[in-house]
Amino acid sequence: MSARAAELGPQALFGLDGEELAEVMVAAGEPRWRGRQLAEAIYGQRVAEISSISTLSKDLREKLVKAGWAVGRPRIAQVFTSVDGTERYLVECAGADRQTVETVWMPEGDDGETGDGSEGEKEDKDGGRWRRATICVSSQVGCAVNCQFCLTAKLGLQRNLSAGEIAGQVVSVLERQGVEVGKERVNLAFMGMGEPFLNYDNFMGAVRLLVKEVGLSPQRMTVSTSGIVPGIERFAGEATEMRPKLAISLNAPNDEVRSELMPINRKWPIEAVMAAVRGVKLRARERVTFEYVLLGGVTDQPSHAREVARLARRTGLPVKVNLIAWNPGPGIAYTMPEEGAVEAFKRVLMGEGIPAYLRRPRGRDIFAACGQLKRTVEG
Ligand code: SAH
Ligand code: SF4
Repeated sequence: MSARAAELGPQALFGLDGEELAEVMVAAGEPRWRGRQLAEAIYGQRVAEISSISTLSKDLREKLVKAGWAVGRPRIAQVFTSVDGTERYLVECAGADRQTVETVWMPEGDDGETGDGSEGEKEDKDGGRWRRATICVSSQVGCAVNCQFCLTAKLGLQRNLSAGEIAGQVVSVLERQGVEVGKERVNLAFMGMGEPFLNYDNFMGAVRLLVKEVGLSPQRMTVSTSGIVPGIERFAGEATEMRPKLAISLNAPNDEVRSELMPINRKWPIEAVMAAVRGVKLRARERVTFEYVLLGGVTDQPSHAREVARLARRTGLPVKVNLIAWNPGPGIAYTMPEEGAVEAFKRVLMGEGIPAYLRRPRGRDIFAACGQLKRTVEG
């Protein structure tokens, strides 16, 4: 290993695609096809150490380590378990800076994907360990978007995650839960810390790894954006077989309120976001989700619901609205909606013909719910 390589630590295999893994083997004087063995080991069998890759000879494993390689998958450093079964993980990146992000496992989901055209959404798993598990995945350490109601915003943007660090969260959780990919159903929500569309290449790189190498279906993945128009435009150009479903964090009934809550709206107002979304070619029965956080007194009134219904109709898009009661966080001066306000909001939307669903808050007691993700260990 060179002096610089020693300083940076070993290079991660995790995050490389099939072609790149083949190159690693060629550089080590091995045939290209051995790249598949590497891919199968780190993405299929979820092996976390080169020394444990049983399909490669001991000599070859040692050769790879000497050449400066490690699996380099982020690791679950701490686990917080909620009374509702949700687990929140502090995940530590393998790189030299040891940054941490949060990932959440919801064994019963939070109903976020209901009604958006997910394949087989009615065939709940009978007698299994869960019915509709969802993993909530982070895309950045912190976030630069500065939504006023969100705890992650308080961190500012620390750095982007690499494709391997994003996909690695998923593989680490699949490993911990012993999930049999292909047999057991798992949804992914790119709705953890960060704005995926401000880390576009790495986010989509992670999706490709998860689809091609890990074997997950993009139809069971949802990416949520605060409305980054250039990102949505690029997303519209992705192949349908490789594209997650799209959710837009609307969060307000009009531009005036939205600009207050989400300063990004001044740059890309609602209509600019919707124009970009119209460019996304939807699958049969697929709907675009509007995420809508209800803030007591600010966005949770029946008049707001009527405005949202009008707005939804005006877009001309097949949409559904996911309602989320605001989850409190320290230092954020909003209040939760009053008892019954979320249900009433939903009734107004449904009455106006707009499908609306309640996102169940999961893991509030362990600070795992939407907008509550922040590093537990500050450093
Ligand atoms: N940055 C992306 C994805 C992560 S945020 C985005 O904003 O879409 C995921 C969701 O959590 C968003 O819909 C956001 O509006 C919501 N959210 C943020 N803070 C929240 C809070 N305190 N309570 C409830 N939902 C919140
Ligand atoms: Fe960032 Fe999303 Fe939080 Fe806004 S809601 S600050 S975009 S993570």
